[in-house]
Amino acid sequence: MEEYKVLKVLGEGSFGRALLVHHRISDQKYAMKEIRLPMSSSDAENSRKEAILLAKMKHPNIVAYKDSFEADGHLYIVMEYCDDGDLMQKIKHQRGKLFPEDTILHWFVQMCLGVKHIHDKRVLHRDIKSKNVFLTQNGKIKLGDFGSARLLAHPVSYACTYVGTPYYVPPEIWESMPYNNKSDIWSLGCILYELCTLRHPFQANSWKHLILKICKGSYNPLPSHYSYELHYLIKQMFKRNPKNRPSASTILARGCLTKLIKNCLPSEMTAEFEQVLKETKKREGNAARPKGNAVAGGSSNSKKENRQSEEESSKHRPLEGKNITKDLRESTKEQRKSGEEGTTDLSHPHRKQWEKRISSTVVDVLENASLLSSSFTSEETKRVRLWNSFDGRMQLPVFQVQHVRSVLLRLLSFNV
Ligand code: ADP
Ligand code: MG
Repeated sequence: MEEYKVLKVLGEGSFGRALLVHHRISDQKYAMKEIRLPMSSSDAENSRKEAILLAKMKHPNIVAYKDSFEADGHLYIVMEYCDDGDLMQKIKHQRGKLFPEDTILHWFVQMCLGVKHIHDKRVLHRDIKSKNVFLTQNGKIKLGDFGSARLLAHPVSYACTYVGTPYYVPPEIWESMPYNNKSDIWSLGCILYELCTLRHPFQANSWKHLILKICKGSYNPLPSHYSYELHYLIKQMFKRNPKNRPSASTILARGCLTKLIKNCLPSEMTAEFEQVLKETKKREGNAARPKGNAVAGGSSNSKKENRQSEEESSKHRPLEGKNITKDLRESTKEQRKSGEEGTTDLSHPHRKQWEKRISSTVVDVLENASLLSSSFTSEETKRVRLWNSFDGRMQLPVFQVQHVRSVLLRLLSFNV
């Protein structure tokens, strides 16, 4: 610690503080996260995961790890300092003035590159949001805050411990479905939408309405002056069935993004990357390219794309856990008995079950439910009030989805 001089506090959270420090030996500035180590050894082990995972990542679009050490009951993680704030601040500073499309794409492609890197290493970020995407003065984007990230070596053990920030939590998590790399893609879609509209895609003033909106995938369309590509990407990333969402590689293989990659990566990485994308494209044929002038999902080849992204996601299938809450599992059995609806692609029964499940569990029950707030405890009501203030972005740190899920289950039993 003596090697570092604290210059200022960058941010404070439930974990402790983030500090700007000066490293005397190298004469460099770094960001240092100071995390209070919990008393229990298993919780302390959990805190150490952030440093361990961050240290594994080496990519221009991931905050670079420098060092970590422990002192006086704290864990210190030293990392690259991002000197131009975060994307949430950038969005706020716009004060309603929309970003130009090329700025959005320049940032988005870098986020995708970072997400691809962590997913290739079987790591899920699990808290992708505009506040965790940092910027540097030279226009670089860095994905940071690996405090919720998990390595998917033992998928089942993580199936119940998803944490995230409610606005960015994908439908499958509210549904107690297993999550995988595509859950991060949903959250990335939320950021892309925020960049295009300066608003969250799914906003509401109660849990009930927020969960309903997310589970139905209902959001206002993007401003019409944005290109087909942006409309299309949003539509794909907000597919309710995670299998139908594109992976980070599939997104990057789209022509409009591929051509931006060489401006973002150092030249020694570009050649290798182009090869990877070529292979992704070859696998996917031409389906990733839009045809005609249909806007966002009206495209006739969208079915084909879904199938392809599904094939592609099947490669990640071992990453998926199987821990579905008993109540929901039983309701699914009922649905299987009572026939099918939605897509009729018989080669993918899993997808049908998923879509059916969504229509008749969370959405139906919530739609018929009286105001969710009536079943809140005072603690929960407090949280909702918090949520209602401004748009909750600052006020809600990492939120235990499990807690909300238990409220949801209580609501289910309340109504049945
Ligand atoms: P948490 O969200 O769990 O509180 P973060 O890792 O996101 O923890 O850090 C909290 C805040 O500290 C961030 O929102 C950001 O403002 C600042 N911060 C963290 N890491 C960096 C960094 N590498 N460069 C610049 N600022 C950082
Ligand atoms: Mg954070």
